[in-house]
Amino acid sequence: MKISINRKILGLFLTGVVIFAIFASSTFLVIKDNQKAVYKANTISKKVNLTGDLQVQVNRLLLPVNYYLIAGDIKERDNFDSIIGEMSKSFAELKIFSGDKRWQTVAERVEKDVIDFGEKTINILYIDNPVGNKKAQELMAELTLLSEVLVKEVDGFHAIVEDEVKKMEEDVDRDTRRSNIYAVIILSALIFFALLLYYYLRISVTTPIRRLHEGAGIIAKGDLAHRLNINTGDELEDLAGAFNDMASSLGEARTELDRRIFELYTLYNISKVLSTTFETEELLKEIVKKVSSDFSIEDVLVMLVDDKTQELFVASSAGCLSEDVCEYMGGRKYKVGEGLYGWAAMSGKARLIRDVHTEKDILPDEIPYSDIQSIIIVPFGVREKILGLLCGYKKGPKFFERGDLSLFMAVAEQVALALENARLYKETKMMAITDGLTGLYNHRYFVGRLKDEIKRAERYERPLSLIIMDIDYFKHYNDTHGHQAGDEILRMLAELITKTIRTSDIAARYGGEEFVIISSETSKERVVQMAERVKKAIEDYPFPKKETQPGGTLTVSFGVATFKVDATIADELIKKADSALYKAKESGRNRVVAA
Ligand code: GH3
Ligand code: MG
Ligand code: MG
Repeated sequence: MKISINRKILGLFLTGVVIFAIFASSTFLVIKDNQKAVYKANTISKKVNLTGDLQVQVNRLLLPVNYYLIAGDIKERDNFDSIIGEMSKSFAELKIFSGDKRWQTVAERVEKDVIDFGEKTINILYIDNPVGNKKAQELMAELTLLSEVLVKEVDGFHAIVEDEVKKMEEDVDRDTRRSNIYAVIILSALIFFALLLYYYLRISVTTPIRRLHEGAGIIAKGDLAHRLNINTGDELEDLAGAFNDMASSLGEARTELDRRIFELYTLYNISKVLSTTFETEELLKEIVKKVSSDFSIEDVLVMLVDDKTQELFVASSAGCLSEDVCEYMGGRKYKVGEGLYGWAAMSGKARLIRDVHTEKDILPDEIPYSDIQSIIIVPFGVREKILGLLCGYKKGPKFFERGDLSLFMAVAEQVALALENARLYKETKMMAITDGLTGLYNHRYFVGRLKDEIKRAERYERPLSLIIMDIDYFKHYNDTHGHQAGDEILRMLAELITKTIRTSDIAARYGGEEFVIISSETSKERVVQMAERVKKAIEDYPFPKKETQPGGTLTVSFGVATFKVDATIADELIKKADSALYKAKESGRNRVVAA
């Protein structure tokens, strides 16, 4: 049941008021009892005094009569009047306490006997010459007897009062005992209620507040898993609930934060590694190694899409069991759009398979080995183009979680960027050494390469030759068909040269419509044959509108020179070949001239 703290305080206050009321009313009753007892004691004491007075007066009653009989003095009549007057007064006061029947009876009897006594006394007091009077003495004897009776009767008052005193003592004793019992009961009840209140306050307010304080301290120290269990049904319980909610939110936020920090740290590490190389193969090797070690994943693969065949192949793998995986997956290819990997590569959607045993759409050959329980596949690419997949494998009983997916996605993004950077780097590097129009190496690269090849030929004492060629009457072709058509001829010619020479030969565009070929492992004799072969191929090639050229076809003149035979340094060799070319031009064009 929910009782608010306000209500609890109100309840405690009302309980206090009730306890106070009980205490006050019982105190009031005790005081009242005491007052009654005091009043009773006063009354009894008054009675004692009055009966004492009465006894004295009764005893004094006989005195005037006696004196009268002895002396015969009539003044004794006044004395008697005065004593009887005092006695009447005392008696009148005693009669007031006439509530008790026994008291009443005694009073009535005393009254009657006093009247009788009075009458008899007066009879004596009014006897003239009482001294020695016999009659008077007889009356006196009677009076004495009556006096004794009266004294006894007045003693009856005394006895009653004594009884009352005794009774009062008993009453007081009883009342005192009762009051003591009441006092003990009330005091016990007060102590009991006080303890009850203390206990109630303790369990419903102070203990929960202490526990709240302790719990808040524990949470504040960083133990966000700590929970407060307070069931007071009031605002303290609500507060504890709010604390628990706060701790759980903080816990979630911290877990998320830890995850983000780990993610950022891992990404930082990976990007650091990625920035060290532009070589694709090395790059992929580093990525899988880093992902495998940083995320503690048994196997990590990077698959790439082969643009020509539209197939996925394993480009790199890492992990403690990667050899097994590689052996199994390495030879395998997965068609884009088909199966687990192909689908991911086509849709661009990541996939987290918590437990492969519960997934029906996975084919056996898509799992590298049977221990694998959990798979994560994240495609990566640039500008809508999927380049490949980053795949992770975990052996049972380990699983991939949701958090791994976002981490893998972040890594995959880095991989895509790194691959793109590597591609751009390669492209830029190629652009720096190739000729934009023909795709052959440019003049600068040719010069450097020629020097390198000369060094190599010199070191290993191998032959090396150089061919320089220049299109015949090319100005004419341009003038006739335009510069663009001329460019097309240059492109076609470059392609034809590349096709005709060996792969070990290096062709370059030397300048405008001049080309060079560095031919390693080639003697003078062989290079002439080679140049002839190229010349022939050009003659035979169906260049567009070649018949408009002066000789009726498009031809090229060749100058060749051989290392060591004609020159020992690059510049010299070029000069020699160039001179030979000049000679070829001079001697009628479309021919090969050796230096
Ligand atoms: P020959 O070599 O037989 O003496 O006569 P030629 O007309 O070819 O004379 P030369 O080699 O001196 O002329 C070079 C001409 O090649 C000049 C220019 O019209 C043309 N040419 C040079 N570079 C380019 C180019 O990049 N594109 C095109 N279309 N023409 C070029
Ligand atoms: Mg020229
Ligand atoms: Mg020319």
